[in-house]
Amino acid sequence: MSTYNSKSPIATEFIDDQEILETLKFAQENKNNSVLLNKILEKAALYHGLDYREAAVLLETNDENILERIFDLAREIKDKIYGQRIVMFAPLYLSNYCVNSCRYCPYHSKNKNIARKKLTQAEIAKEIIALQDMGHKRLALETGEHPEYAPIEYILESIKTIYSVKHKNGAIRRVNVNIAATTIENYKKLKEAGIGTYILFQETYHKPTYEYLHPHGPKHDYAYHTEAMDRAMQAGIDDVGIGVLFGLNLYRYDFVGLLMHAKHLEDSFGVGPHTISVPRIRPADDVDLKEYSNAISDATFKKIVAILRLAVPYTGIIVSTRESKESRQEVLDVGVSQVSAASCTSVGGYAEKELENSSQFEVNDERSLDEIVNWLLELGYIPSFCTACYREGRTGDRFMQLAKSGQISNCCQPNALMTLKEYLEDYASTETALKGEALITQEIERITNPKVKEIARNYLQQLHDGKRDFRF
Ligand code: SF4
Ligand code: SF4
Repeated sequence: MSTYNSKSPIATEFIDDQEILETLKFAQENKNNSVLLNKILEKAALYHGLDYREAAVLLETNDENILERIFDLAREIKDKIYGQRIVMFAPLYLSNYCVNSCRYCPYHSKNKNIARKKLTQAEIAKEIIALQDMGHKRLALETGEHPEYAPIEYILESIKTIYSVKHKNGAIRRVNVNIAATTIENYKKLKEAGIGTYILFQETYHKPTYEYLHPHGPKHDYAYHTEAMDRAMQAGIDDVGIGVLFGLNLYRYDFVGLLMHAKHLEDSFGVGPHTISVPRIRPADDVDLKEYSNAISDATFKKIVAILRLAVPYTGIIVSTRESKESRQEVLDVGVSQVSAASCTSVGGYAEKELENSSQFEVNDERSLDEIVNWLLELGYIPSFCTACYREGRTGDRFMQLAKSGQISNCCQPNALMTLKEYLEDYASTETALKGEALITQEIERITNPKVKEIARNYLQQLHDGKRDFRF
């Protein structure tokens, strides 16, 4: 019997197996129900989102006309809310010592092939200089779970180091943190350290599969892991990022679980996830991909992203360099709003070329940051290095209110252009700089508020004259 309760603090009640199975059955039975499909699309066109059951019905349909309408609507919503802006970031791996045994990750404790490393503060500073010299302003901190090698004190010290390094005109202005589920006390410390988003992927919401994939270590505890975002929210971190690793379990089940999790956060804390990540499993050392027969096709992947865009219009969707250039292009078109770029998935790999294998997965897009910025400009996007919101205290429900009323675009558009301008002045190749300047000239005209437009023009001039770090 279903015990589903979206406001329950208990993992198996807000992610209820029975409710997911009934949702999937409902979706299967209604995949050709044109009256219902039309109703769902009409609701999505209001930009108020969809519930998990409605989204599941869309995911089940294979009707070409409906699919086209889903993609068109996803493009429309994306354009209306995010414009052409794409936020850029890079992951930074601090340590790959791990006490867990995740079957899909080469950092699992039993893997003897991989070189284990933990960066010292001096090595972190070197990594930051290398990242700043590329032009990055926003990071996602990654580390394995280990009480001795990566205790919370080490993470806090590392965050301090990262924010303190200022090389030439460089600065890391937002550190998002992706570390293992922890206590409310530790989340409070992360909040005090000035993190942006706390990110934790569920991997899979299917409890038996979750327990099979995490046979030992603290991560084995499904409830502790699934309830982590509640603890983070209770600790005052109001921007959280969720995600599943597609390919670990039946994607339909995880898709519904993901939206149920989003609803739980919204219903319990008044604010849904700030971001959703959509990684797909990739080859890695000591990981047998044959075990994961549930890997999803490119077409299904695109469908998932587009329906997420309809279901949670104001939640950022992130795609990493696990995806190829082609695949990233497809999903940028239908909903993705943030991409990682020029990522190194090994420990210490930005400052020094890797001698020993210590990477978490093989990247599928190896282009430099300049190549990616150039490519985005070519496609008509505005690469943005903006980090303004959390620095201005626009987080959690404050951010969501601004986003839902459309007011946030008064900040996003000028901030995107100003941070792009900084990139062009300090780091871009001549070709990228020319394209970028032309885009800025064109896009400044699209700022609708005359006062904001005037200030933005003034700031752009000051950036050209050598000043840095303006924001709305
Ligand atoms: Fe450790 Fe994370 Fe890899 Fe699991 S996924 S083995 S917790 S680093
Ligand atoms: Fe993101 Fe806020 Fe910058 Fe817009 S203004 S891009 S929402 S940080």
